[in-house]
Amino acid sequence: MTANNGLKVLVIEDDPNYFILLNERLSQNKDPSFELVRSKHMQSGLERLRESDIDVVLLDLTLPDSEGLNSFVSVHTAFPLVPIIILTAINDDDLAAQAIAFGAQDFLTKGSFDRQLLVKSICYAVSRNKSQAQLQKYYQENERSKRALLERDERFRSLVSNIPGAVYRYTLSVAKEWEIDFISDVIKDIAGYPADNFIGKNISDYFEKVLPQDLPLLKDAFEKAVQHGNLFAVDYRVRHMNGDFRWVHDRGRAVRDVAGRVTHVDGVISDTTERTKEKERFNQLVYYDALTNLPNRELFVDRLDQAIQQARRKKETGAVLALDLDHFKRINDTLGHPIGDQLIKAVSVRLLKLLFDSDTITRISGGAFIILLSRVAKSEDAENVATKLLTAFKAPFLINEHELFTSCSIGIALFPNDGETSDILIKNADAAMHISKERGKDRYQLFSSSIANSSFERLVLESSLRRAMERKEFQLFYQPQLDLRTGKAIGAEALIRWKHPDLGFIPPMEFIPIAEETGLIHPIGEWVLKTACEQKKLWDRQGFESFRVSVNLSARQFHYANLVDMVGDTIRKSGIDPKCLDLELTESTIMDRLEETTLTLKRLKNMGARISIDDFGTGYSSLMYLKTFPIDCVKIDKSFVNDVTTDPDDQAITHAIISMAHSLKLEVVAEGVETKEQLELLKSQNCDVIQGYLFSKPIPVDDVSTFLLSDAAKKILS
Ligand code: C2E
Ligand code: CA
Ligand code: CA
Repeated sequence: MTANNGLKVLVIEDDPNYFILLNERLSQNKDPSFELVRSKHMQSGLERLRESDIDVVLLDLTLPDSEGLNSFVSVHTAFPLVPIIILTAINDDDLAAQAIAFGAQDFLTKGSFDRQLLVKSICYAVSRNKSQAQLQKYYQENERSKRALLERDERFRSLVSNIPGAVYRYTLSVAKEWEIDFISDVIKDIAGYPADNFIGKNISDYFEKVLPQDLPLLKDAFEKAVQHGNLFAVDYRVRHMNGDFRWVHDRGRAVRDVAGRVTHVDGVISDTTERTKEKERFNQLVYYDALTNLPNRELFVDRLDQAIQQARRKKETGAVLALDLDHFKRINDTLGHPIGDQLIKAVSVRLLKLLFDSDTITRISGGAFIILLSRVAKSEDAENVATKLLTAFKAPFLINEHELFTSCSIGIALFPNDGETSDILIKNADAAMHISKERGKDRYQLFSSSIANSSFERLVLESSLRRAMERKEFQLFYQPQLDLRTGKAIGAEALIRWKHPDLGFIPPMEFIPIAEETGLIHPIGEWVLKTACEQKKLWDRQGFESFRVSVNLSARQFHYANLVDMVGDTIRKSGIDPKCLDLELTESTIMDRLEETTLTLKRLKNMGARISIDDFGTGYSSLMYLKTFPIDCVKIDKSFVNDVTTDPDDQAITHAIISMAHSLKLEVVAEGVETKEQLELLKSQNCDVIQGYLFSKPIPVDDVSTFLLSDAAKKILS
């Protein structure tokens, strides 16, 4: 625009007459005023336009260096913001119309240059072009930013869609509520609902999909992150629309504004179900027993280590139980391994039901389990659990529609008292468990330091016991028995003695159980019987023909298939009267495997031997039941005799046993009689025979005939 506020008009026209005409018409105009410049060629016109002071162009389409529509396009493309009015000859209306379609502002027909029309056309062209240009500029700019937004959105979307997780942004609303501003489509794979179901909703809409028991974990992590404006990472489960749940790993970051306020939380929820499952499968393989699904030893030890550490920190206590099924090997051998396996499974199920979730149980081999009790304040608590477990075995296990009865033996070690490392605790619980077995099975045993020593001694004993026979380290002592009616010694019980070259005399209670377990009881027992029978023959020759000899048979010995033949052979070879051989069996020996036992007892009886029930009263059998067996005598256990003068219950028991036995025509021997008072009382209850330190301790064989010839018995009875 010109300085005087007029419009500068460039006329590109080769014909000077038209220019003069235009100039004449327009120069008279005052408002706006026009200043006309002229170019005769397209070329010079374009050059003039470059000076940028032209407000409007009047363009003749027929120029010496340019023709027709091309002329318009040349100017318009070079200077798109300058309005162009086409000057046409009368016949050029079509061309002019085309130029307008291409963006020309107007056209004027040469020859009819009405001044008013000219002014109006030029003014319109300029103003229309101006607003158009502004509009265009606005559109252009708007278009650009819209495109930029779309592009950015597109970039964001493609980026987000490539992330293998649901990308989200939660924002804090004006109402201070957390809202889901954005969440990517992956959420559909995780929760089953499309992203649109969440976007714009309250965060609780998403939280609702989280498994209730995991929700506190997520909320807690989220709130902490928001409070402190930092990162959080949490694993939890989301309930999918189809009912399944998916494991996810949710990593988020609380973002602050310039003022330091947390305004939103960005994060990604990744589906870790497969990875978790894989990990679980792996863990299952590596850390669990395939048969029972119980943790394996490695995992158990790990948990035990943790429990020990925690107990140390909090000054608490805990317990390790070693539990071993009794006779499991026998079940496996007789019923087969598949049954054995099923029994173990059933046992583990039953044990699990009885334990707390915080306890851990593992199977270490065959029918051997170890249990970690974490919440045990004192030894009684562990003992109560042990009792509960033992009682649980009283009910049969149903295996292939068969009822299987089994029991177990338990050893208990407490931490920190009985050991401060997992190794020692397991070892000590195991040692206590072995003591349980030795002391009769189906019971529990607390660990004690004496057990610690005994298990070492046991190893020593076991190896020297194997050599004891050939080294002739065994000896028989005899303990005489006194007939209360005649006042005479009517027999003696043979009791084995082991004189160890280094350890001295070892009591039978210590080595007989080891001999039983190792099978050494067979040669030892055979030697005892042979020696006792040969001795009896010697006593016969010394004139004590009616004198009886009692021999103890252990359970394992008694159930040995060859026993009857062995006893028969020994009797025959020694040439003694079988009536004078008394075989002592405990109640529990007889009550085991009833059919077989009855048969064995009958065969021994047919041979002419006597049968006595040893330690009577300590088992569960009743005399009435024993009646069905061919037995001759019961020996009242010394535990009853011990307190018979002071404990009315024991007195009642001995009285009942004696009268019942008599009614069944059985002889009664009272063991462990140590005092005159005991003797008197038993005598008053009509006991037949006594055996005990009062009369005689077990004595070496050489002392027996001396004893028999002396009047020891008379002295006692008088
Ligand atoms: P048992 O068959 O009950 O033998 C009686 C035990 O009581 C013997 O112990 C004997 O010394 C002890 N005794 C006898 N009178 C008294 C008394 O007045 N007071 C006290 N406190 N004790 C008394 P011992 O000889 O130590 O034998 C212990 C157990 O070892 C026997 O108990 C028996 O079960 C087993 N045993 C001993 N010898 C043999 C054997 O040759 N073969 C087998 N299989 N077992 C044997
Ligand atoms: Ca005995
Ligand atoms: Ca006894």
